Formats: sequence, structure tokens, C-alpha cells
Amino acid sequence: MKFLRSHLMGQWHPANSETGSVVVDPTTEVSLATVSSSGVDFQAAVEFSRTTGGSALRELTFSQRGELLIAMSKAIHSRREELLELSMRSCGSTRKDSKFDIDGATGTLYHYGALGKELGDSVRLADGEGEPLGRNAVYWGRHGRLSRNGVAVHINAFNFPAWGFAEKAAAAILAGMPVITKPASSTSIVTERCIDAVVEAGVLPEGVLGLICGSVGDLFDHLTGQDVVAFTGSASTAFRIRSHENLLRQSTSVNVEADSLNAAILGPDVEPGSEVWNLFVREVAREVTQKSGQKCTAVRRILSPIDRIDPLQDALCEEMQSRVVGNPFEERVNVGPLATADQLSSVLEGTTRLREVADLIHGSGERIEGVGAEQGKGYFFGPTLLKVKEGVTDDLVHDLEVFGPVSTICPYDGEAATAACLNSRGKGTLVTSVYSDSEAWTFDLLQRCGSWSGRFYLASEKMASQAPGSGVALPQSLHGGPGRAGGGEELGGIRALDLYTQRVALQGTRRSVERFIGDR
Ligand code: NAP
Repeated sequence: MKFLRSHLMGQWHPANSETGSVVVDPTTEVSLATVSSSGVDFQAAVEFSRTTGGSALRELTFSQRGELLIAMSKAIHSRREELLELSMRSCGSTRKDSKFDIDGATGTLYHYGALGKELGDSVRLADGEGEPLGRNAVYWGRHGRLSRNGVAVHINAFNFPAWGFAEKAAAAILAGMPVITKPASSTSIVTERCIDAVVEAGVLPEGVLGLICGSVGDLFDHLTGQDVVAFTGSASTAFRIRSHENLLRQSTSVNVEADSLNAAILGPDVEPGSEVWNLFVREVAREVTQKSGQKCTAVRRILSPIDRIDPLQDALCEEMQSRVVGNPFEERVNVGPLATADQLSSVLEGTTRLREVADLIHGSGERIEGVGAEQGKGYFFGPTLLKVKEGVTDDLVHDLEVFGPVSTICPYDGEAATAACLNSRGKGTLVTSVYSDSEAWTFDLLQRCGSWSGRFYLASEKMASQAPGSGVALPQSLHGGPGRAGGGEELGGIRALDLYTQRVALQGTRRSVERFIGDR
């Protein structure tokens, strides 16, 4: 069986053990590869990245780093067909869902590459304007941002093995920090091939991009206050990483993107059959089923005015009927299997729990057979809608993230205050989508619960023809959210560089402060 390799200190490292976690095709349940990082010297690896990779990167201007990112994007794009096939096989994603990951990766790298070119020949970022600190303009102060002299360790979730790696790496490399990336073992084949493409193209200075396939071993013990950990995954793993003794002791920056019970809110002004209504139905159904619901931005709670519940329920169920669950290599299939056996168990268990407080209105709540898949094989679970039982006020629907194609309709009285309160009960989300043509109602809602989500997607009739859906994490806009969502921030254009740079206040003569910070 294939053994996935790590790439560290400028070389490929096969695991020195015959055991490891096994990557399985979620459609056939056939083993594809074994993953293990045993034998890796993590201390030497972080030191090599910091010194060799970091020094090389910090010599380059933003524009030159941008060129590296564009070259990475092209190298990965040149393997597009192979990567799409691998994603379909190892993640169970349909071709369309696989494009979301692979093209999302190359697009984001390219976007940050172009941003680097815009930043030009500078190596520092100004942060605000300068100002006099004394009685006259001689004693001057200004803030700037400098690349951290460490390594950025990136740990990613299983659902986006290409985009997850790329969106983090793009920001760190542009900021001047070398990267060691660790994908989730279950889907790491895709990341390994992305890194292989970059290594083969020879586009990066040595030490700028490392890969760990398997566990991070004792790596955290070797990090310092100049290093960064950026994590995406479950809240429980996030907690373990955040409370790691050495990371706490060294004040290593840790950014977390974790669970999120995103809400889609239907405004009370939206009439059944109207353009915004149709958009809501179409987009919610997509955000529940795309990538088989294994998306951090998926809609987990559907907030609907009580007097719209019946037609909405009918419309959503009808839309869900068009979903064909099965082998992602079959053309008619538009929802693949869940990524792993553990995922299937967790979704089955989570749905059973949700049924204590909500009625099943679409789906069986059970594993199903997949179209075009061998009988009894594959981690298939159909699109599932629930509706909160009458009189239930329990928090479970707002607390339990079922990471599959599962969402619950929550009725509310049509008041912005009630919708805001329900949204906030998710205790912090990545994205909230609001569908309404009433600006007054939407603003009232935003004013009440705006601080509970990292991003708000405001859909209206005027935007309907251009609306991309709430689930697309565009490089221009922040990705992250407060509270349960992890409290982290990624993307958001140049804001993504904040994590990888140190803000410094410079005080001195106006001339030297401006010459240094302004790079003139
Ligand atoms: P997970 O089990 O927490 O794993 C995430 C990553 O952490 C994997 O790479 C995993 O590696 C690694 N890991 C596990 N234990 C670790 C430890 N003690 N030290 C260091 N790394 C460790 O999460 P998942 O099942 O992959 O992803 C699903 C979750 O991610 C969901 O809860 C979802 O909401 C969340 N998610 C959030 C976002 C976001 O942007 N907010 C995006 C995607 C997913 P191994 O695979 O090798 O164990």
C-alpha cells in the first residue's frame, strides 16, 4: 500500500514504521494509503524552516513573495485533473465539490500573489498614519508590521485538504513566514500531491514550505514566541492545542477556526414564490448539501417566520428531492459519501440526538445505500432536514454541530429581535446569511447580533443575480468567527497578514520613523 510522505528540511521523509492511520476511499471502503510521521525529527524541522526558509523569505519583497505564490498556484493548477480525481476518490467529493476545494486553493494563492504585487517592493507594512508625540513634529510615532522570525505551523481539517492548506500558506508566505502544514490524515493524499507539485516545480526557496503527513509528534514543544500556530478543526482539538503547556509558556500565537452553527435567516417581508424566497430555498439547500454538508460554513439552522414555515418546509423538501447521493464518479450523483467511517458514526449519532428536540421532515436519519456504489459499502447519508418540535426551547439545536448534510428549521415570530436572539444562541458563528428586502429590518438585526458572527451575507432581490451563496470564503473577506467558531480570523485581504507579523510602535525622529515604516 502507498505510504504518504512528509516533506521537511528540503527532502521527502517516508515514515519509518509500517503502522499508521489508513486513508480509505469512502465510497468503496478500500484502503488507499497509510499515513505516519514516525521518525521525523520535529525539532530539526522547525529549526530548518525558521532559519533556512525564514531567512530566504524575509530577503524578498512583497512583490517577489507574490510571484512565489503565483508560481505555486500554477504548479498546483497543472495537476488539476489528477487532484480532482484524487479528491473524488479519497474525500468522496463529487467533481463539482472537488473543484470547490482545488480551484479554491489555486484561486486563493493567485489572489494573494496579486496582492503581493500590489504591495510592491516593500518588506514592511505601515499600520495607520504617523503622528507627533511631542510638542512639535520632531518626536514622531508610527506603527508598522514586521514579519515574525519564526515558522507558521498550520493544522487543517479533513474537509478542504487543498484550499485549507493554500489559504493559510498564502497569507504566511506573503507575510514572510515559512510554513509547515499538516493536513488531516484522512484526506492528506490530496495535500501531499499539492506539495509534490510545488516541490517538483522547484518554485520555492528551500525550507519555505514543509509538510507533515501524520501526527505533529512533539513539534509544539519546540515552538517559541516568534512562531505561529493556525488551526482549523474541532473545538475539542482546538482546546487541546490552545492549552499546550509550551505554547502557553512561550505566548505562541494560536489562531483557531473551529465549529460553527451557521444560521440562514428568512426575513418576514419575503413572500413565498418571490425572487428572494427562491434564492433562499436554492442557496440553503446548496449550503446544506455541498461537500455532503462537511463545510464549516454550511447552514445548520434555518430561521423562518412562523407563518412561512409550511410553504418553506415544502419548498426545501422539494429542492432536496433533486439530490442524488452516491458514488461521486457517477454523473447523476450530486452528493458524495461522508469522508470517513467516524464521520458517518458521528453524523448518525448527532442526528439521533437532534431528533429528541426536532422532528425529521426529510431524510431517514439512517445510513443509506449510495447510487452506483456496492451494496452495503460506503459512508452514505442523505440530505436531512429537521424542524424544532412545538414548544421546545432546548439549546441543543443551537449547540450541536452535526458535520454532515443536516439542518434544522427553527420557527420565530418574524421580529428582528427574536431572530437576533436565536442567531446569538449559536454562541459565535462563521457566517450568518440574511434574506430580506427590508433594509430597516436587516439593520435592526445586524445592530442586535452583529458581533456574534464573523461574516454576514445579506441577500436581497437586487443581489439575486450575482449572489454566490453564503458558503464561499472569498479571500477578500474575513473568515473566522467569535466564541464557538474559535475566535480566529483568516483571509480578509491584507488583514490575513496580521497573524504572521508583529505590530511595532516606532518612536523617533519623523525622518527615521517615516523612512523605516514607509520603506522610503
Ligand atoms: P479534528 O479532528 O479536530 O482534526 C483537525 C486537525 O487537527 C487534523 O489535522 C488532525 O490530525 C489534527 N489533530 C488532532 N489532534 C491533534 C493534536 N492533539 N495535536 C495537533 N493536531 C491534532 O477536526 P476534523 O474532524 O478534521 O474537522 C471537522 C471539524 O472542523 C468540524 O468540527 C468543523 O466545524 C471544523 N472546521 C472548521 C472550519 C473553520 O474554518 N472554522 C473549517 C473546516 C472544519 P489527524 O487527522 O492526523 O488526527
